[in-house]
Amino acid sequence: MRGPLLLCLALLAGCGDRPTLETVLERGVLIVGTEPEFPPFESKNEKGEIVGFDMDMAKELAKDLGVKLRIEGMPFETLPTALRGGQIDLIVSGMTAKPERAKTVSFSDIYYETVLCLLVHTGSGIEKAADADGKRIAVKTGTTGADVAKELFKKATLIPFPAEGACALEVATGRADAFLYDRHSILRHHKNTPDTTRVIDEPLNAEPYAMACRLGDTEFVGRLNSFLRAFRADGRYAKLYEQYFGEPPPAR
Ligand code: GLN
Repeated sequence: MRGPLLLCLALLAGCGDRPTLETVLERGVLIVGTEPEFPPFESKNEKGEIVGFDMDMAKELAKDLGVKLRIEGMPFETLPTALRGGQIDLIVSGMTAKPERAKTVSFSDIYYETVLCLLVHTGSGIEKAADADGKRIAVKTGTTGADVAKELFKKATLIPFPAEGACALEVATGRADAFLYDRHSILRHHKNTPDTTRVIDEPLNAEPYAMACRLGDTEFVGRLNSFLRAFRADGRYAKLYEQYFGEPPPAR
C-alpha cells in the first residue's frame, strides 16, 4: 500500500520528471516546439523548413549544448501540453512570458520585447484604441492578444481564429473592425494591405518573449539563461537581430 501511495505523491509533486538537460544530453537531440506561423520568428520557407529568428537562436542553443536540433511544428495553443507530455523539451515560439503562463511552464530570461497594438479596418471608425470597445475584434486563439482584448474591450464581440493570417484578412476585408496582436505582426499586415487597414499605434500591453521549459526545471532554466548571456555577450544576438529586424537591438 505504501509503495503506490508514495509513487502517487511523487507523481503529483512532479518528482517523476527527469531533468530536461539530462534527457537532451543523453539523447543528443534538443526537441524544440514552435508554431511556424509567426514571421519573422518562425515560419515555413518554400521547402517547408521551419525558419526564423527563434529557429536560428535555437540552433545556436543546440550548438552550445553540443546536440542536434529537431523542430516540431504544432498549433500555438498545444505547445504547453506537448511540453508537459514530454513530446518537446522547450518552447521557442515568440511566446510572451506572462504570469498566468508561469503557473504551467518555467520561463527563461527575456530575448525580445514588443507590445500589443491594433490593426483596424479603414472604415471601422476606430481612431484611438478605446474606440475598439463595442466593435468586432479578431483575435488569435490562445494568444495574449485574445486575453487582453477580453479584459480591455468588455463590450466588444471577439472573433477567434487559430491563425494570425485569418485575423488580418478579416480586418482587411472589413468582416472584423480590428485585430489585437503583437506589434511587429500588425505592422507587417498593414504593409500588405495599406489601402484597407490602419495601425493604431498605442501600446496596449507589454510583450516580453522568452523560451519556456517544464515547470520547475530550474537547472534547465539556468542553462538557458547562461546560453542567452553568452549569446548576447559574444555578438551573435545583435547579428541575428539586425538580420531579421534591420536595426541593432535596443540598448539594455
Ligand atoms: N506573443 C504572443 C503570445 O505569446 C503571440 C505568440 C504567437 O502567436 N506565436 O501569446
